[in-house]
Amino acid sequence: EMVEFNVFFNRIIDRFEMSKSHKVLFERHLPKEQYFVEIDPDKLTQVIDNIISNALKYSPEGGKVRFGMTVEEGFLLIQISDQGMGIPKENVDRIFDRFYRVDRARSREMGGTGLGLAISKEMINAHGGVIWAESKYGKGTTIFFTLPFEMDDGGGEWD
Ligand code: ATP
Ligand code: MG
Repeated sequence: EMVEFNVFFNRIIDRFEMSKSHKVLFERHLPKEQYFVEIDPDKLTQVIDNIISNALKYSPEGGKVRFGMTVEEGFLLIQISDQGMGIPKENVDRIFDRFYRVDRARSREMGGTGLGLAISKEMINAHGGVIWAESKYGKGTTIFFTLPFEMDDGGGEWD
């Protein structure tokens, strides 16, 4: 399905913004231009839901969650950052492994299965994109993913 990414992304962020605690601040840095992506909206929603839930789970009181979107090398680059406890450097790439969780004590407390990002990776790859994380232990985490895009919706349909 051809979807305008800005509208799609904002709608997901809105849903979290309505239910989130007042102690976390959302900041959006999204372009005004339209970018069309050929996606399975349910699957992409699942991916973004997981990334935002993780960001909220690990955000400290007063923390900021930042949403960014730019065009890099012909792909949309989406970024979701938090100011949470971060992930030690040696573990960052492993968070995309199935059932991997950075530390058991912390994870037991937080709930979840450790599958969210493994599924996200499969789905982003299936859409022709890549996903990765950058993190500073004690400072915060950013999840990045890319998606191929078009500047118009291809026409022909009215919905
Ligand atoms: P699930 O998503 O299946 O409910 P989960 O959130 O533990 O469980 P993933 O979303 O795959 O699983 O994340 C894997 C692990 O990566 C988490 O358990 C956590 O240790 C770490 N992690 C993910 N996102 C963040 C983040 N924003 N800040 C700190 N650690 C994170
Ligand atoms: Mg998760």
